[in-house]
Amino acid sequence: MLEPLLRQKQTTCPYCGVGCGVDISCNVSGRTTSLDKVTGTPEHPANYGRLCVKGTNLLETNDLSGRLLHPTMAGARVDWDTATRAVADKITQTIAEHGPDAVAFYVSGQLLTEDYYVANKLMKGFIGSANIDTNSRLCMSSAVAGYKRAFGEDVVPCDYTDLECTSLLVLTGSNTAWAHPVLFQRIQRAKLRNPDMKVVVIDPRETETCTIADLHLPIKGGSDVALFNGLLQFAHTNGAIDEPAIGEFTQGLNDAIASANTLDAKDVASVCGLNEADLATFYQWFISAESAVTFYSMGVNQSSAGVDKANAIINCHLALDFISKPGCGPFSITGQPNAMGGREVGGLANMLAAHCDIENPEHRENVKAFWQSPAMPEQGGLKAVDLFSAMDAGQIKFVWIMGTNPVVSMPYREQVESALKKCDMVVVSDIVQSNDTLAFADIALPATGWSEKDGTVTNSERRISRQRGIMSPPGEAKHDWQIMCDVASKMGFSSAFSYSHPSEIFDEHARLTAYKNDGARQLNLAPLAGKSHAQYDAMAPVQWPLITNSDQTLAPVRPFYNKVFSTPTGKANFIAVKFTVPVQLTSNEFPFVLNSGRMRDQWHTMTRTGKAPVLHAHTAHANVYIHPEDAKALLVAQNDYVALSSKVSGETPCIFPVQIDKRQRRGDVFVPIHWSGEWGSHSKLAKLYAPATDPISGQPELKHGAVSITPH
Ligand code: SF4
Repeated sequence: MLEPLLRQKQTTCPYCGVGCGVDISCNVSGRTTSLDKVTGTPEHPANYGRLCVKGTNLLETNDLSGRLLHPTMAGARVDWDTATRAVADKITQTIAEHGPDAVAFYVSGQLLTEDYYVANKLMKGFIGSANIDTNSRLCMSSAVAGYKRAFGEDVVPCDYTDLECTSLLVLTGSNTAWAHPVLFQRIQRAKLRNPDMKVVVIDPRETETCTIADLHLPIKGGSDVALFNGLLQFAHTNGAIDEPAIGEFTQGLNDAIASANTLDAKDVASVCGLNEADLATFYQWFISAESAVTFYSMGVNQSSAGVDKANAIINCHLALDFISKPGCGPFSITGQPNAMGGREVGGLANMLAAHCDIENPEHRENVKAFWQSPAMPEQGGLKAVDLFSAMDAGQIKFVWIMGTNPVVSMPYREQVESALKKCDMVVVSDIVQSNDTLAFADIALPATGWSEKDGTVTNSERRISRQRGIMSPPGEAKHDWQIMCDVASKMGFSSAFSYSHPSEIFDEHARLTAYKNDGARQLNLAPLAGKSHAQYDAMAPVQWPLITNSDQTLAPVRPFYNKVFSTPTGKANFIAVKFTVPVQLTSNEFPFVLNSGRMRDQWHTMTRTGKAPVLHAHTAHANVYIHPEDAKALLVAQNDYVALSSKVSGETPCIFPVQIDKRQRRGDVFVPIHWSGEWGSHSKLAKLYAPATDPISGQPELKHGAVSITPH
């Protein structure tokens, strides 16, 4: 008998947007491969060998239990040809009877860039609708819109190294210690190396991230625009803005200042629920810093004013010239492993591939010509919450959901369930056999998962890394791009979807970014086009924008390094923003602010991390975290059960055990997002939040609900 061969494969962690490199030791025996050990990739620039507890325990979560292994129709096993024929026929029939906008795709930041590209090409270029949105809408669409308004393009202008060389790091709306642990470790080490580096944490809760804070501002939820407008005003009145120099590369400063001047310092402190002295300290540190990074995440984005919050932050960076240089910038960090790759190929309903705008006729014509597409919509499609509302209203007859569980993760669960019931056909591609959304599927299609999929992801610092297929697909599972190509071929589009390998899709994506791109857009992956299968397979992590040196080597450059932005004038835009209160306001009936977020060791709805016993050790179940004084007033003690209700939660109360926590703001409660099932929280959170969204980005307000609490 032959000894098993030991092999080492390099891939990327499938969890958060840090995008850590992972080395896998495998045993190969004949046709069987088993994964033996996982370690961080020492040379990967995202993590330099480090992994958090979720990454370290990846193999504990990678078994076949609960996997969907065969296509099914109405719960009965069918072959692939039957399943994809039924999907193709139904899409064709729906278009014929109701038009292309009656078809919708709802996809996921878990998809690889190649899957995302094919989904967008099929929907926007061949079905002829823009009704394709993604669960990344729930994660970072406000950040996207903020960057586009300011820079003319969705470009994150920072690198992870900026977190290490800045003199002031402002972490706002981000529990980095738990949500992006490897970056937090990098920041910790940077602060140890440079004790003069100041860290300010802005968060209603005193989270683990506050352990490195020189100053914690326990801001009242939803008041970030007032805080950053106050900073802009402070910088202006204290003569910290070099207006002639700033005017060289920006426009709109005066309007932004006029808009920021509506509250005086006392009012800002009161609106934000902060101590005036602490606020003044933060403002003084910011205007006198040599460099500053503002690092923001869901606490900023998941808001009915998420885009204005992002622009209020960016305004301060433009005004102080903390942009486009080392240690500087407004840095949005994504939650999912490939939200950024999705953005590059037009993953959101209001975007087109290659950072082109769907509502720009020239961009549209270029993409249409490149794809040789028969039909392309002229307007953006429905964003996630609106998409499910339209489905509920009977306007969407067919939906294909890929790699996500909207019944649990979207706000207003009752409406999402009702919407799926009204669809003529619900198709779900997933790796799991059952979840709350699969319960509504007419057709279930088995997809491949991490360690089986082969393609690329882009992390939060614009670094493209390979996720490598190490294991064979289990059962009859197929890659998402393959499933979509099968359906597209059966719809008559075989020549446009004839890919045989993900490298061919990546090549087309790279060429499209360069097509008629005269330098107006930073996303230009031309130097990565034309790779053979083998070159693609060997591709090392690479960051864009890229230039090709005279010796043909590639080098990344800092976005907007020359202070020329992707706007028509080349100047960055200040955006005049005003503070507005959250949509879901507290009242006598619903007096508590509901906030939610991640715990350290779990991921999304726990379909993967829930399999590893060790990952339950940190937090075993969902609690509601309540300030001691609030608990006293409610006459509840530690571990008592309470019922949470909101305007939209319906008859059944949402029950949680109490965790008394003095790190909560009084009047705020916190519930983690992950747990579902009988005593879980995620499906209950979906019931408690109203479908309030940002008017520009469509991102749901998932950090500021209004609830009542009663002992149970
Ligand atoms: Fe994975 Fe994120 Fe942890 Fe890195 S920090 S190992 S990408 S979960």
